[in-house]
Amino acid sequence: MGLTRVCRAVRVAACCAMLGCGRGDEVAVVTEQRVMMDTVVSISVYVASEDSSSAIRRDIDKAFAAVARIDSLMSSYTETSEVAEINRRAATSAVTISADLDSVLQTARWASAISHCAFDVSVAPILQLWGFGTEHQGVPDSQSVRELLPKVDYRLLKKEHGTLRFAKPGMAIDLGGVAKGYAVDVAVESLQGAGYRDVMVKAGGDLRTLASPLTAGRRYIWIQHPREADKFFGKFRFDSGAVSTSGDYERFFERDGVRYHHIIDPQTGYPARRAVSATVLANDSRTADALSTALFVLGPERGIALADSLAEVEAVIVSIAGDKLAWRATSGLAPRLAIIQ
Ligand code: ADP
Ligand code: MG
Repeated sequence: MGLTRVCRAVRVAACCAMLGCGRGDEVAVVTEQRVMMDTVVSISVYVASEDSSSAIRRDIDKAFAAVARIDSLMSSYTETSEVAEINRRAATSAVTISADLDSVLQTARWASAISHCAFDVSVAPILQLWGFGTEHQGVPDSQSVRELLPKVDYRLLKKEHGTLRFAKPGMAIDLGGVAKGYAVDVAVESLQGAGYRDVMVKAGGDLRTLASPLTAGRRYIWIQHPREADKFFGKFRFDSGAVSTSGDYERFFERDGVRYHHIIDPQTGYPARRAVSATVLANDSRTADALSTALFVLGPERGIALADSLAEVEAVIVSIAGDKLAWRATSGLAPRLAIIQ
């Protein structure tokens, strides 16, 4: 894991939530942040001011432990993760998978199917070739990209009776587009299980909130400006649910004035170019996370058409036309969205 990557995530976190003022009600917030999952994870619990915070901190610790467990299963950066083990063995035998991995792969499969493969966790061999965030990152030769493309197809991931097998040698999975969202869900569920009714968990560009009457109507989500790190592109009011943003400014390098970023179009093997950011609202974070990556790849027209077709999903996709930002949003979100630029 590169420290530089983490620093960038802190500086340009894709979206953030803030409580608006205006009502006189007292709200106490207990917040803790830790560097995990290659980004900054922040957990906040909102309570009436008289609640004791030492008990809350113990429960926040438990939620962080749940995130750490998911990271240890799904990280692409450690040799000891379950994903690393699968990538070593699943081409030669069916590997037993954990219930968490099974669940994430179910979300991934759904996102691949509805996006016609714009989202595909089997894009891993191509990601490894580009080496984003590693010392060997660079533009690969087109022949190497072409040779790897036949290994990218989620339908070649054979999941049966709690095991996973790759149908072709050289296949691999990378859960970077969905695992953080899943970890956010697991943290929120941990806090919900401990009895909290007003929480916010954030991991880089993935965020999920539960609102009680303490904060209802007072929380705004601010979408990061895709080209100016200290600005926001827009904001909307948000109570309970999940919001994820995928952007081409999160993890990238430049060669000869061209930006090469970490979200790959599985059809071409090259960074997707139709959008500069995609923000998705959904009921849970794993869905929002996978869909934000999928919609980023699909771009404004196809991405918003897909989001409009899904129940309880809203989205806004930002693109660059000439040197101007353009945006397109679902019919449910557009009237709620205040553009700042
Ligand atoms: P971030 O990790 O910055 O929050 P995303 O949720 O959009 O952003 O996920 C991007 C990550 O998803 C990449 O770093 C990579 O691990 C993985 N990825 C890249 N392209 C795809 C794709 N087309 N489908 C699925 N996962 C992808
Ligand atoms: Mg994602």
